[in-house]
Amino acid sequence: MNYFRYRNGLLHAEDVPVDLLAGEYGTPLYVYSARTLERHFNAYEKAFERFPHIICYAVKANSNSAILRLLGSLGSGADIVSGGELYRALRAGISPRKIVYAGVGKRDDEIEYALKKGILMFNIESAEEMVRIDEIAGTLGKKAPIALRINPDIDPETHPYISTGLRKHKFGIPIEEAVEYYRRARGLKNTRIIGVHKHIGSQITTITPFVDALERVLVLIDRLREEGIEIRYLDIGGGLGIRYSDESPPHPGQLARKISPLLRGRDLTVVLEPGRSIVGNAGIMVSRVLYLKEGEERTFVIADGGMNDLMRPTLYDAYHEIVPVRKRRRKKMTTDIVGPICESGDFLARGRVIESLSRGDLIAVLSAGAYGFSMASNYNSRPRAAEVMVRGDEHYLIRKREEYRDLVRGEEIPEFLR
Ligand SMILES: *Cc1c(COP(=O)(O)O)cnc(C)c1O
Repeated sequence: MNYFRYRNGLLHAEDVPVDLLAGEYGTPLYVYSARTLERHFNAYEKAFERFPHIICYAVKANSNSAILRLLGSLGSGADIVSGGELYRALRAGISPRKIVYAGVGKRDDEIEYALKKGILMFNIESAEEMVRIDEIAGTLGKKAPIALRINPDIDPETHPYISTGLRKHKFGIPIEEAVEYYRRARGLKNTRIIGVHKHIGSQITTITPFVDALERVLVLIDRLREEGIEIRYLDIGGGLGIRYSDESPPHPGQLARKISPLLRGRDLTVVLEPGRSIVGNAGIMVSRVLYLKEGEERTFVIADGGMNDLMRPTLYDAYHEIVPVRKRRRKKMTTDIVGPICESGDFLARGRVIESLSRGDLIAVLSAGAYGFSMASNYNSRPRAAEVMVRGDEHYLIRKREEYRDLVRGEEIPEFLR
């Protein structure tokens, strides 16, 4: 069941008409459906209920505090990649015991912060990082709980920019060298080995890469056991895809069914790090058409939301379905839907066939909940959009639209220019 649907030709978010939201909060506007978030999270919970597990929502997909709080209240932990994300997760009430920390560039202050808060584990990405975390733990008189992020050299068959588990990528430790790394970790005085981690990429739409990667990692876990290194947490990462157009990605239940036989009888707590599959289809980006412009070769629809609000089309050439908020049964047009930013790469869609639009119409960019607002910027000095959460017939502002003064917050004029 889709919580973004038409009633009498008008797009609704749950029980709220989207044009009402645009009127009240302005555009561009992110709108999230609380019930969709709940359903997606619970689908993971249910899928893995027969195994000891922790679902650590990947904060970078959408880090709004209200979304974190909602997921946290359902029992979610957090997969973080920075000190800032740790701050957000803790502030949203997520227990540090359910927080895992990945990323190739953890700074000293970030490591210290995470150690002091007592997170579940660090997912280590390099030998130097492992040593550095051990040193910092030593100064704090703590033991650092770690997993090594294994790069299993599996092709997730997704966009190259969101693929992470191949030998050529900067992420993780080559699986051939993993045992050697674990031996080194065992020799570190302030480090406690508790897990193995992998995350091979994002927007993965078939099960096979997950199974292949998991098989490789389980062989590693057996090898480690022979060495006397016991692994308690198996972190299988995130990456499950969503439907943007005609993909049919596996449901978390299918993933669970396919990997259960591999996990059965093993005394492992499974950690999952879903991001996109929780929040992607729980959000839309609403924008207003400013102008239609007849170009030499094509018509441009110029909207008030662009790459500064939703970067995915520009960055990944990603496809997002775009629909009129009010259906008018006009004839179709073929158009580029672009934003106001001064870049030729600023587009939401190219060569798109859509019901004819005119100035003032509202459009909704679908599947925009993940890597949407979290990648938004102030480029061209555009205040970032407002965010709203809908639940039933209620709607709540969860992030104020930025104002001009927010743009210059923190900037200072040197003495000699005053
Ligand atoms: C980005 C990321 C995720 C989430 O990926 P999705 O495709 O959004 O599910 C999980 N784990 C790690 C380590 C990541 O970097």
